[in-house]
Amino acid sequence: MSAGFYSETKKYKGMENILKDNWNLKKPEVQKTEGYSNANYKVEDAGEKYILKVYTNEKQAAGWSDAENKILLGLNKETANRFPLPQKTRSGQTSVYAEENQTIFRLLSWLEGDFLYDVLHTPELFKSFGKFLAEMDSLLHDCRDYVIEARHSQWDLQHFVQIASEKIHCISNPSDRKLVHYFLLQYRENVAPELHKLRKSIIHGDANDRNVLVQNGMVSGMIDFGDMCFSQLVNEPAIGITYAIMGKDNPVEWACHILSGYHKKLPLEQREIEMLYWLVAARLCMSVCHSAYEKLRQPENDYITISEKPAWELLRKWVTINPVHATNSFKKAAGFEISAVKPVDELKKERFKTVSSTFSISYKKPVYMERAAFQYMFDKYGNSYLDAYNNIPHVGHLHPQVVEAGQKQMARLNTNTRYIYDQLNEYTTHLLNYFPKPLSKVFPVNSGSAATDLAIRLARNFTGKNKIAVLEHGYHGNTQTGIEISHYKFSGKGGNGISENVVCLPVPDTFRGEFRFENAGVSYANQAIQQLKTSENQVAAFIAEPIVGCGGQLPLAKGYLKEVYAKIRNQGGVCISDEVQTGFGRLGHFFWGFEMHGVVPDIVILGKPMGNGHPMGAVITTDEIADAFDNGMEFFSSFGGNPVSCAIGNAVLNVLEEEQLQAHAKTVGDYYLQELTSLQQKYECIGDVRGSGLFIGFEFIKDRITLEPETKLAQYLKNELRNRHILVSTDGPFDNVIKSKPPLCFTTDNVDEVIHAVEKVTESYLKRL
Ligand code: PMP
Repeated sequence: MSAGFYSETKKYKGMENILKDNWNLKKPEVQKTEGYSNANYKVEDAGEKYILKVYTNEKQAAGWSDAENKILLGLNKETANRFPLPQKTRSGQTSVYAEENQTIFRLLSWLEGDFLYDVLHTPELFKSFGKFLAEMDSLLHDCRDYVIEARHSQWDLQHFVQIASEKIHCISNPSDRKLVHYFLLQYRENVAPELHKLRKSIIHGDANDRNVLVQNGMVSGMIDFGDMCFSQLVNEPAIGITYAIMGKDNPVEWACHILSGYHKKLPLEQREIEMLYWLVAARLCMSVCHSAYEKLRQPENDYITISEKPAWELLRKWVTINPVHATNSFKKAAGFEISAVKPVDELKKERFKTVSSTFSISYKKPVYMERAAFQYMFDKYGNSYLDAYNNIPHVGHLHPQVVEAGQKQMARLNTNTRYIYDQLNEYTTHLLNYFPKPLSKVFPVNSGSAATDLAIRLARNFTGKNKIAVLEHGYHGNTQTGIEISHYKFSGKGGNGISENVVCLPVPDTFRGEFRFENAGVSYANQAIQQLKTSENQVAAFIAEPIVGCGGQLPLAKGYLKEVYAKIRNQGGVCISDEVQTGFGRLGHFFWGFEMHGVVPDIVILGKPMGNGHPMGAVITTDEIADAFDNGMEFFSSFGGNPVSCAIGNAVLNVLEEEQLQAHAKTVGDYYLQELTSLQQKYECIGDVRGSGLFIGFEFIKDRITLEPETKLAQYLKNELRNRHILVSTDGPFDNVIKSKPPLCFTTDNVDEVIHAVEKVTESYLKRL
């Protein structure tokens, strides 16, 4: 991989004579071989084979070629035919300098063998590879060389942060770039602070499978010492592992073979092994960064991008592997003890000593979470989960652009809206770009509930009325007001029933409701209007979600909102759209849920996805409603609109735009719905498939005529999917609807995984009956 020196593609004039004059060769035949950057030639003469290395940038190369030759001579003293041996000239030199072209020549012995890349891989071969690296590193460990130690190589893993930061912009696809960015961030968090504690040594620095030779099923030699560097010792096996495991179905298992071979010969320290998962990722990222950069500089050179495709493939796989699993496997391979993790039941008991049991935990077997990445979550036991459920990490768990935006702002200024700072205006202006004209004021708060509470205050203040019209099964928040206007809560378990301030309207449900035909929306609206007559002129606001989440991902019947909005406004009220779940492009075909129904609300409530997990909420309303609220009483939220939240919110919008996640949600969501509809045709128990984009529900029933809910199957499915490491949940008045609203980076491959598992589990359930 040496990116070191100048690349000479033509054959150097008079090369044969140089070989004859200096190395006493009789009739050398010279043939160009592949090289990342410096020029290599295969030389055959009198039945002997050599490798000739040519450097035209003499100034840098002189010191380097001496250093490399010195190391190679040293290695060859200890062991023969494993490393290239510098051939001495007539006058006893290891290199020749040709004045006219300022070129340096080095002649090395040719090593026999096939490249590791080309041979059949076996665990034994991989163990021998680890052993070989360890033996080489043991020899290198005693070497010192100031030229090597002073060199700042572009491939030295210890410079990963600097190199990747410089070149990451060359990766043009934002969804690819985010992967590198994620591992860059993780390296900064997990590796950089530990680097000073790790042993350093001269290492080969490029044990890629095209530099490793194999004979008789064992690694027998190593070539190309052009990337030697004085770096962390563990970088050596990390690099060797990275290339060797490309294309493997089970990369961690294969890595363990190399590691155990290495560790037996040259024991690694536990803290070195604990870095390995991140170091492999770093090497992959370094490789794709260099490829992207070099592709722009030398579009005609195929060799520089030789590892690009498999590196990307491994990177995409690596991010799905739980770092706990990888690290535990590496530790095990090296014979280190793995710390025991408490069983979940014990943890549950501990939790409820200090936290009320009203904070429920999902699944029969709770998940003990450790970390997450995009659409994957990782538990403490080493399992990876496909997150087909959580809508809060909207652009993906731990999206590096979002995390970094928060980190940077937190390290600069965090205060409240009583001061002027740029981040608030930047964010609110950006956010308002997504709303139709009349909606032109933002009230930033910290949660959906706070937004609901404030929205109701705004509505009551503006209209001078008190009653709130709500929909059956709606949920809008956990505050006193939130509960009072959430049928899901006041009518559910532990609820106090409907308050006199609330009018509850039937949910316009075309699957189970009273009207189940094409234009049912208008019939439901007429029914609602009829009911509203009893509270004529008293309703301050009508609040609804465009798709009712707790109702079981139930889209409001077409045509309903238009009619009801008109009626509410007519009698002096305002209309609130709760977009906490449906907003920010999740619906694919629409950025906001209200667009789906062809209406423009007077007040919009935002939450969950807004900060990708950072607590943010907002109320968006018209100038008129906002102005009326400014009656002398200050509105202040300690945290709402703080610069950190604004920076995070802005980053979420930027990612949505750069990665075109709304369009992605549409494509993947349409596919998801189509696949579920196919399942529905196959299985009578799937009564309905509904939703839009990546906001999806599918309902289990016992009978397609009576629609009797099949709650048991839905619960079984939820828990079985969890056991198969796929996260979904259930909802709806009968808890028989599977809801799936994954991070928007969810892919069609992810959908296939869910569909396959749903089918398998449904089959097994039905067979048991
Ligand atoms: N509205 C809707 C539709 C919600 O789903 C939720 C949360 N589940 C809220 C409001 C309340 O948001 P938060 O939990 O952030 O207070």
